[in-house]
Amino acid sequence: MKPENTSLEITKATSSTIGKVDFDNLTFGKYYADHMMICDFIDGKWETPKILPYGPMQMEPSAKVFHYGQAVFEGMKAFKDKDGKVWLFRPEENFKRINKSSKRMAIPEFPEEYFFSALKTLLKLDKEWIKSGDGNSLYIRPFAIATEAGVSASPSNRYRFVIICCPAKAYYSSPVKVTIAQEYSRSADGGVGFAKAAGNYGAQFYPTNLAKDKGYQQIIWTDANTHEYLEEAGTMNIFFRIGDKLVTAPTNDRILDGVTRKSIIALAERENIEVEVRRVTVKEIVEAAENGSLKEIFGTGTAATVAQVSGFEFQDNYHELPEVENPYSMKFKKMLQDIQYNRAEDPFGWRYAV
Ligand code: PMP
Repeated sequence: MKPENTSLEITKATSSTIGKVDFDNLTFGKYYADHMMICDFIDGKWETPKILPYGPMQMEPSAKVFHYGQAVFEGMKAFKDKDGKVWLFRPEENFKRINKSSKRMAIPEFPEEYFFSALKTLLKLDKEWIKSGDGNSLYIRPFAIATEAGVSASPSNRYRFVIICCPAKAYYSSPVKVTIAQEYSRSADGGVGFAKAAGNYGAQFYPTNLAKDKGYQQIIWTDANTHEYLEEAGTMNIFFRIGDKLVTAPTNDRILDGVTRKSIIALAERENIEVEVRRVTVKEIVEAAENGSLKEIFGTGTAATVAQVSGFEFQDNYHELPEVENPYSMKFKKMLQDIQYNRAEDPFGWRYAV
């Protein structure tokens, strides 16, 4: 949908909260950059986007988002290089994906010009919130919610698209223990698993809490029909290294098409590392762990970049993964970060100058 007017209305914050933030001891999601973007969809069109000081938003208690969960979001990051220049990583992928998610949730698609002009303006205004150095970034959370008042179960006539930003340091830096889902499911055929629909995440909290009680930080979800095929983790796609090759599940209507996942597939192919994109059974991975051919498991996603898995639980058996020399997980993490922080050439044109 083409916007009628790409200008933004900007109201600058009169003071900054940056002084309250201890950037060396960040709690992710606790502090937000000084500005946010809001844009309302009223009477069939997106209004002019507004840049405002970050702060609370007023909404009717009957707003449909609270009752029917008509809400989608994205997660992306801005990085600062050693010369102070700010970069995004493949932001057009996040833009396309939020509109794909919106479509599935009957939310109107957001115009591309609005998205990118808002992002650029926010990142320029809040440049000080982005710290250089490995692992430091500004996490960007675009989201769209149904704001029409009314508790009837039907799609909303009004929506709000919002972008907020918060400083982040690398997290999940130590290897994680995971468990393989046998009872609960994340998504179903024909459902909304491929979308970043808010409810997909809320529905994982309870089973993930049960897993945490048993000492596992994450669940690797399996297909809902048979629980035989490994799919993805809570906010990460999953790769298995068997011998020297990588195996990862194909994306489908149950699995999120991760930007980090497809970037790693491209990097691996460039490095002549074989990648098999195919269904992976739990049985195959248990057997590979038992016969020693399973060298690594890692998760990939914007938040963690690459997260090493130290071992997995399946049917009360814990399989510890071996310590390997020069793990692929660290190799790809470094390759991605070198591109993201403008320390290496960018053969695929993934960096986006702000
Ligand atoms: N799977 C799910 C369910 C996620 O929420 C995410 C995070 N967006 C990912 C995978 C990884 O996707 P990306 O690499 O685009 O962050």
